[in-house]
Amino acid sequence: MADLESALGAIVGEAGVLTADGDKEKYLTDWPGANTGRAAAVVRPASTGEVSGVLKWANETKTPVFPQGGNTATSGGGVPDGAGNSIVLSLERMKAVRETSVSARTITVEAGVVLQEIHRLAEERDLFFPLSLGAQGSCMIGGNLATNAGGINVVRYGNARELCLGLEAVLPDGRVMDVLTGLHKDNTGYDLRDLFIGSEGTLGVITAATLKLFPLPKARATAFAAVPDINRALELLNRMQAETGGAVEAFEMIPKLMMEQYEKHLPHLKRPFADPPDLSILMEVAATSDREAAPAEDGAVPVMEQLEAILGEAFETGHVTDAVIAAAEQQRLEFWELRESAYEAVVKSGPRIGFDISLPLDQVHDFVANTEAAVEGIFPGARLSSVGHLGDGNLHYTVYPPDGEADRLEELRAEIKRAVLDSVGGYRGSFSAEHGIGDSKLTEMAAYKDPVAIDVMKSIKAALDPNGIMNPGRVLPA
Ligand SMILES: Cc1cc2nc3c(=O)[nH]c(=O)nc-3n(C[C@H](O)[C@H](O)[C@H](O)COP(=O)(O)OP(=O)(O)OC[C@H]3O[C@@H](n4cnc5c(N)ncnc54)[C@H](O)[C@@H]3O)c2cc1C
Repeated sequence: MADLESALGAIVGEAGVLTADGDKEKYLTDWPGANTGRAAAVVRPASTGEVSGVLKWANETKTPVFPQGGNTATSGGGVPDGAGNSIVLSLERMKAVRETSVSARTITVEAGVVLQEIHRLAEERDLFFPLSLGAQGSCMIGGNLATNAGGINVVRYGNARELCLGLEAVLPDGRVMDVLTGLHKDNTGYDLRDLFIGSEGTLGVITAATLKLFPLPKARATAFAAVPDINRALELLNRMQAETGGAVEAFEMIPKLMMEQYEKHLPHLKRPFADPPDLSILMEVAATSDREAAPAEDGAVPVMEQLEAILGEAFETGHVTDAVIAAAEQQRLEFWELRESAYEAVVKSGPRIGFDISLPLDQVHDFVANTEAAVEGIFPGARLSSVGHLGDGNLHYTVYPPDGEADRLEELRAEIKRAVLDSVGGYRGSFSAEHGIGDSKLTEMAAYKDPVAIDVMKSIKAALDPNGIMNPGRVLPA
């Protein structure tokens, strides 16, 4: 232990190495408290050179390394395993902003910059970084890229992958790979940036990234609308996209059960409807031009009027049965607080089987109907909830037991999981849409991922990390 401490201290300085139990604690348990691991030390390098030194040492000593950003991952990938011989490599001290270009609309930041801080830095320059998720006050851009995070704005701007132009990464042997460009076009061989995005720390450590920035919306129109079913919700989305020139920033589905869970577990949150409808959609349209954003003499904001008109027409055609448009910024924030508290309300709702799945948009309706029937056949009375980013086909699909039958849920867990995931596979969907694999979805990876794709991944892993030091036991099934 003393050897490890002094070797690492020589690379990152004494203050950069934590070995006392109390100091390590917060790095060893993940956000919901579901996973706890052990580590010989937590190492906190402050520069790319120090990350390189740590990985070179770990590779030579064959010490497992668990990279960590904000430790908000929900798939068990952010904390070390239980062996205790590893190090956690925290990026939290790598917080530099290396460059910002307003004219190129890019920002280059180190991996430890918290997502919300990137939002602030962009807004200071009248620009916008769209990646937006419930954990944005804690998660870091390195972690967002390592997990290819999604969130609420994917319908317009894409995942973390689409928002990154280039990155810098340290390979397991300590070499620094510099593909940190701000280029939009760069066809010079294999796309190594994309290889690291979504690799969940299994191939190396992302130390910096150049990100795309966008025009800052000057006004937003936000509404909750009750819709009769998912297919009609999708028709509404397509109509909104056509009417607004693709300015739909979010289209989030919230079923009745979720609204009831807010009422029960987070009663301080304001809910849009006194009687929750079976299905509601939280939608937002953004305007970046004065033409659409500036209030007229009577105070009317064009983008709000446009959303009102779309929803009015949707009433006529039966696509919407009720709607509440946020009249002021405060009400808009309340709508979003509700959506962003979904995970917290789900965690408080007790025993459940949760899925983070994605489906082709035109199959979501059939999937929900047919899978409900399959689950009902296995566990009569089970309650189902599909909360999700409907605009991009990502559902956070949850199965809850009937009251008082939590034990039965455990007995049926494997059977229900198989039925739901077989159903996802039948629609050519994905068993992991945005939360990654970590160590919680290795069985699904082995069962549902194309075996040739897994072989290719294993070859890449073996080529880059022959000693298997990076995030061992994560992402790739044995
Ligand atoms: C309330 C809440 C809401 C959430 N909502 C969403 C959502 O809407 N969409 C979504 O996609 N996710 C969501 N998440 C999950 C989580 O926030 C994201 O996965 C986030 O991108 C993780 O970032 P992090 O910095 O916390 O990474 P960590 O949890 O620290 O790490 C995640 C993984 O990335 C690896 N890693 C971290 N940093 C690096 C690095 N610099 N280089 C290489 N590997 C690294 C880790 O080893 C681990 O495997 C949510 C989580 C919470 C708690």
